[in-house]
Amino acid sequence: MKTYQHWINGAHVEPAGGQWLDTTDPYRGTVWARIPRGNAADAECAIAAARKAMHDGPWSRMSASERGRILRRIGDLLVNPRYAQLLAEVESRDNGKILAEMHGQLKYLPEHWYYFAGLADKVEGTVIPVDKADVLALTMREPVGVVVALTAWNSPLMFFTIKCAPALAAGCSVVLKPSEFASASSLEFAALTKEAGLPDGVINVVTGLGQEIGAPLVEHRDVAKITFTGSDKTGARVYEAAARGMKRVAMELGGKSPNIVFEDADLEQACVGAVGGIFGAAGQMCTAGSRLLVQNSIRQEFTERLLAMARNMKLGDPMLPDTEIGPIATPPQYDKVLHYIEAARADGARCILGGAPATGPGLEGGMFVQPTIFTDVTNRMRIAQEEVFGPVLSIIGFEDEAEAIEIGNDVVYGLAAGVWTRDIGRALRMTKALRAGMIWVNTYRAYSYTVPIGGMKQSGLGRESGIEAINEYFETKSVMISSAAAGPANPFLQR
Ligand code: NAD
Repeated sequence: MKTYQHWINGAHVEPAGGQWLDTTDPYRGTVWARIPRGNAADAECAIAAARKAMHDGPWSRMSASERGRILRRIGDLLVNPRYAQLLAEVESRDNGKILAEMHGQLKYLPEHWYYFAGLADKVEGTVIPVDKADVLALTMREPVGVVVALTAWNSPLMFFTIKCAPALAAGCSVVLKPSEFASASSLEFAALTKEAGLPDGVINVVTGLGQEIGAPLVEHRDVAKITFTGSDKTGARVYEAAARGMKRVAMELGGKSPNIVFEDADLEQACVGAVGGIFGAAGQMCTAGSRLLVQNSIRQEFTERLLAMARNMKLGDPMLPDTEIGPIATPPQYDKVLHYIEAARADGARCILGGAPATGPGLEGGMFVQPTIFTDVTNRMRIAQEEVFGPVLSIIGFEDEAEAIEIGNDVVYGLAAGVWTRDIGRALRMTKALRAGMIWVNTYRAYSYTVPIGGMKQSGLGRESGIEAINEYFETKSVMISSAAAGPANPFLQR
């Protein structure tokens, strides 16, 4: 069994309290490693390292181009097949994500680092025409300061990357606390960055429980910005704590995204998008298309297609190449998914596929849930309003565009939405009317490092990826310089 340590100031560090948490392989149901159970003293130590790196260390003196070169080398590390394999296996063991998906993710993560490596020395200030004689007015973009990144268990390496790459490009340093359910890949990756020449203290990873180490990190006075990915409930708590110190925040929270299929769509493609949109990663995706809105005229036919595709999906060992659905990653999440299946039945939804734990050969040790489809769902039911974060799809019928928009928007969330149609006018009208941060037309869950992601309404604040992401890590400083030989004519007229 492997014992991990915090990664602080470029070194492995024992937890101050000498305590550890077991980390479980959700497929086998066995403990495979221990991670530090950090506390406020560890938070203090990591923040001190990050602060020193930002203000006194080599990081603070580096040009943006030099920072960019280091980010490029971090991207190169992930291209190294040995490291990519190690990270993919560690994360798959830790959260049950299928290895094939991890390999796909790791092929793409370097692009994020390269993009922000290139962007590091391209963010410019401005010179502003000003209504004062002999005054030069400008804005400078300065790194916001020490960033605390709190992440969820479903895609730790992805969150590490989409938060740290822009933060570092902007010149910030980071203390990252991954989920206590899946911390190992973040600890492994952080230690690798030393090989890329990242100065000590620029990325620190500490682990433990939210209350015990997450909260002290958020409350620490030397932290300038919190970037959070997780549930809306915890997000609201973190937002409140951050507000007390007037900290900048970015929040990537939950969703209840509508995937909307019109009668004129390519139904084969839409079916692939609907199935991948809810059963990929066993539904443990913030952008899961968990509400499938199908036009009534094709509802019967489309439901049959879906059933044919979904009922043959292969559940099993995430490490095997033909596995399509892995286990649920954590015991509380498993209970939550089963609870919502019962709630859907109690509220009158009709289960037409799955609806129970999955058992059988090869599934003995893991927490598996059968791919589940409910029909006869109304948008008022809990199954249509609340995030399940599991392989549970609700089919809701609609008559026309107006009704699809009304149902689509009628949730507290606004993370993503899918629209399937061959009518360009309809695609544009829907894109405009849907209140979500990401709209996919004739595709679902398409991402790029150049395109901002993030949510509206209770799905969050701020954007990750793309140019908008780097702007999240800057403060604007305004500067006015007088060149008048005799100084300002009248200081009281300066405002
Ligand atoms: P969570 O809210 O339970 O935990 C997120 C992180 O916050 C963890 O590291 C946790 O330890 C920490 N935390 C908990 N309490 C804290 C506190 N009081 N102070 C500081 N930190 C604290 O979320 P989770 O169960 O790990 O993740 C699942 C959720 O994440 C889902 O709701 C999902 O929709 C969301 N998610 C959102 C996105 C997105 O980009 N919008 C992506 C993936 C997951």
